[in-house]
Amino acid sequence: MPAPERTEPTVLVTGGAGYVGSHACKALHRAGFRPVVLDDLSRGFRRAVRWGPLVEASLADGAAVSAALAEWRPVAVMHFAALAYVGESMADPGLYYRANVANTLNLLQAMVAADVRRIVFSSTCATYGDPIRVPIAEDHPQRPVNPYGETKLAVERMLHWFGQCHGLGWGALRYFNAAGADPDGEIGENHQPETHLIPLAIEAARGGPPLRIFGTDYPTPDGTAIRDYIHVADLADAHVRSLGHLLADRGSHALNLGTGTGHSVRAVIDAVSRRTNRAVPAVLAPRRAGDPPALVADPSEARKLLGWQPACSDMTTIVETAWRWHSATPTA
Ligand code: UDP
Repeated sequence: MPAPERTEPTVLVTGGAGYVGSHACKALHRAGFRPVVLDDLSRGFRRAVRWGPLVEASLADGAAVSAALAEWRPVAVMHFAALAYVGESMADPGLYYRANVANTLNLLQAMVAADVRRIVFSSTCATYGDPIRVPIAEDHPQRPVNPYGETKLAVERMLHWFGQCHGLGWGALRYFNAAGADPDGEIGENHQPETHLIPLAIEAARGGPPLRIFGTDYPTPDGTAIRDYIHVADLADAHVRSLGHLLADRGSHALNLGTGTGHSVRAVIDAVSRRTNRAVPAVLAPRRAGDPPALVADPSEARKLLGWQPACSDMTTIVETAWRWHSATPTA
């Protein structure tokens, strides 16, 4: 007897072997979708692809993207594949334009040709640049201060025009600071090199190099920079909701994903120290170029439009899940 046809709707997930993308695949699977990952594994990990097949290909290869769309006939695309280091983008902006803008153009053109007209895009609060108002709402001016933010904004504009001219439905989700790991411990954060505060603080607590605190002279209560940390599982949930909104033809949207609460670098260090029961060795260092004093979201629009509310983004849960993931992973 032939195998029964699969009936779950398929979603093509570019960058599904990466940090946020792999968590989105798990959430898609739970919500009854089949995630098909398209990833060149340049920064992602084969072992993070666990809820559907992997198409090993780069978005630079337009023919491979078209072939994947023709083979898998997805109802929509979730687009995570991108480069995401501010410092690297300042050193090599062309790399970022190629990876983030040119490759997304390949994807959108292949989607239109294949008549796949819904996309959820991984955007960022870096599109706002230095905030003139905090908390930051979606109508805050978008004036990026580095090529990373600029290329993500260029994609938002591209989505707008593909929407106007080709009927593409899109959701641009502007993350604040993605953090934490899968609460079941199946996947987590694995950046090479790691530059993010929470994994580095955990590394320091485990005997790795001392954490450098970038800037202690900010105009904040304890002098260190304030960020809005949002759990990766809450981000994944927002992606599934955004997809549902698009599949119901309820309209394109650009939304902030954050909690509305800021935590200073010192507050994060304290939380790591409390959870690990260890000191976090730290040294004071100058401010990192391009780091604003405070970035905090006004997340009310995502709540209104998608009914989305962070469920595991309190700092204790973020650190708990990150710590469990990193404890199960050998130190570099
Ligand atoms: N940070 C720090 N030391 C580090 C890494 C980060 O003091 O080794 C600070 C950084 O300046 C920022 C905050 O921690 O204020 C969050 O930085 P991260 O790199 O995690 O995320 P980003 O805000 O750059 O997306």
